[in-house]
Amino acid sequence: MDPVVRAALWLQRAVAKVMGSLLAVGLGLYLVAEVASRPPELVSAGVLALYALSLATRVVKRLRGGLTEGGPRRLDLEILLHLIVGAYALVLAMPGGLDGPCYALVYAVALLGGSFTGPLTIACSVAFAVLLEGSLGVWALGQLEADRLVQHTALIALFASLNLIVLRAELARIKRLSRQRIESELTRMRDAARSYRLLGAPASPRDHALTPAPDDAERLIRSGVDEIHQAVEFALSLLRRTLGLRTALLLGTDANGNHLTILELSSGEEAILPGPFGIRDGIFGASLERVTQVSISGPRAAVHLPYYALPRPAVGAACATPLEDHGRVRGLLVVDREAREAFTPSEEETLKAAARFVLRAIDNERVFVQLDRAKVEQGKLYRAANALAAATTEAQVIEAGVNGAREFALFDCAVVTLFDRQTQLHEICAASGEGTAELIGQRYRHNSGLVSMVVANRHALPYRGDYDPSRQVVFTRQIAPPPMPSLLVLPLLVHERPLGTLILGSRRRGAFGDAVRPTLEVLTSHVAVSLANARMLKRLEELATTDGLTGLLNKRALIDVAGQKLRSALRFSRPLSVLVCDIDHFKRVNDTHGHDVGDVVIKGLADVLRRAKRDTDAVGRFGGEEFVVVCEETDERGASLLAERVRQELSAVSFPTELGPLTVTCSVGVASFPAAGKTWETLFKSTDDALYASKRGGRDRVTVWSPRLQGAA
Ligand code: GH3
Ligand code: MG
Ligand code: MG
Repeated sequence: MDPVVRAALWLQRAVAKVMGSLLAVGLGLYLVAEVASRPPELVSAGVLALYALSLATRVVKRLRGGLTEGGPRRLDLEILLHLIVGAYALVLAMPGGLDGPCYALVYAVALLGGSFTGPLTIACSVAFAVLLEGSLGVWALGQLEADRLVQHTALIALFASLNLIVLRAELARIKRLSRQRIESELTRMRDAARSYRLLGAPASPRDHALTPAPDDAERLIRSGVDEIHQAVEFALSLLRRTLGLRTALLLGTDANGNHLTILELSSGEEAILPGPFGIRDGIFGASLERVTQVSISGPRAAVHLPYYALPRPAVGAACATPLEDHGRVRGLLVVDREAREAFTPSEEETLKAAARFVLRAIDNERVFVQLDRAKVEQGKLYRAANALAAATTEAQVIEAGVNGAREFALFDCAVVTLFDRQTQLHEICAASGEGTAELIGQRYRHNSGLVSMVVANRHALPYRGDYDPSRQVVFTRQIAPPPMPSLLVLPLLVHERPLGTLILGSRRRGAFGDAVRPTLEVLTSHVAVSLANARMLKRLEELATTDGLTGLLNKRALIDVAGQKLRSALRFSRPLSVLVCDIDHFKRVNDTHGHDVGDVVIKGLADVLRRAKRDTDAVGRFGGEEFVVVCEETDERGASLLAERVRQELSAVSFPTELGPLTVTCSVGVASFPAAGKTWETLFKSTDDALYASKRGGRDRVTVWSPRLQGAA
């Protein structure tokens, strides 16, 4: 696009944006000019029409949702500026002018503006009003009355922001109220759940508070409470209709068993007290004490019903039926009716059946909630087990195990120890959390600390996870985890064989209560099995790559390593050399001293090679008494020095035999990349040629490959 066109478009858009405000400012200036002119003619028909049209279009646009560039906020400002100009025009037209009683109109506009705009618009409008009034004072009326202006400014600002302040305060109040309402609703639901024992055995309420994923638990409990509520409500209204009752209510005992609260209520009577009620009050006490159904009838029956507010309604008969669960009273079903006839035996039987129905509904729901909760836990365990199964190294298993534990318990540090039965040493092999870094790698003897005791007894310690750092030793007196009030040492058991322990620590008291410990024990058994598998895998890998007699690499593994080293030498143009070492007249050793001595000699050469090589060199047994060394970053000279050292060291070793001390010699062939070969096959062939040359040349010597040896072997 042409820059001129672009600039024109930009200008057009910019003008459109400020058009409304400019118009309002223009009208303000016009007002100032008109007031200044003598005689002032405040309203000309044309300007009035322009003003009305401009204001009306903006108001209409705003009412339609303000779908213009800049949105409703810009329109708000424009409307407000228009209104301010209009207000000043009217004020000036009225008797008294700026000091007259009609000045209140400006305040009214400020108040109105404050009710529908935001703080920025209000600030701009107040500034505009002050400027306009100041201009009117200076240019039009000939004098600036500073006191009046300050006073007006303060009041305009106050009126404009009044709404904002009140609105903000009101919003905050509403927010606070709804938060409180949600809280109390949640508390009510939890109370109901507790009354129905949906929260399980109240072994330790804090267990639940600390169990992660409260959303799941809350959801489960809420749906449980709803289900019971519906079932019981249905039962109560059915009873009311069939037995002609005034009121039917279900009461539950609180956690301490000292009070009864209304769990469910169906009544035609409004004046029912909310409770809680004493367990000895009226008909409640009679039924609870004897754990039996109690019926009363007669004109004074209402006196025994503590749930009616005074004056009590007329009651002719009442009956309380205990909800009995394995000898324990869990609540009361209490009904009453106006009719004076006592409850008949068949009606009493109906009430007992209803009580049993209610109990069953609660029990069913409890089982559902527990099943659901178990399902959630199982899902987590399943995920953790999957992650553990996918872990193939010790480090991966430990990481997956600690991550899995996080799903079930909140903890601040985790440590894993492994126990070596042969050496009776514990090793801290992993640790996470504050102040645990220096623990990693520490080893200590089996002792009477918690970790040792857990390994010895195969049970988690300390009891309930309560830990006292001043009395209990976890590792040793010198090596200790960060002091925390909760700590749990779990054994890593595979078929009752302890591999080590998983230690979790938490800064919260009671973090490892009954609700989490069993699951953590199941998880650690998974961790232990995965750990054993990872170790076995490692062992298998070792078996597949090492030579059984010498512990050096076997032929296949050495060829693999050699291939890698050769590729990198080729890529980076670095030197690399290969040595082949073969014991001289080894058949004679076997023939004279037997195979066992032969094996000892083979191991002797392996030891010499292990000592002589560098860390980056790879040594392997190629078969019989032949060894290969691959030396990276080593040229011909370095390799021949190494070969010479090996030759000399072997010849200096004396092997004791039944026939006296035995010494052996070896021959070595050396070849270097790239002169002697660029592939493993050619390079190894060259090394073999060099070895052959050593043998042929009289043995007990080192030969470095040269082109004239090609094909010598
Ligand atoms: P040279 O000096 O030419 O190398 O003569 P040599 O007798 O050493 O010949 P060669 O290297 O061919 O001998 C290999 C012998 O090593 C053959 C075999 O009996 C013996 N041998 C191979 N593997 C083992 C082993 O695992 N243990 C023992 N004791 N002897 C082995
Ligand atoms: Mg030999
Ligand atoms: Mg040989």
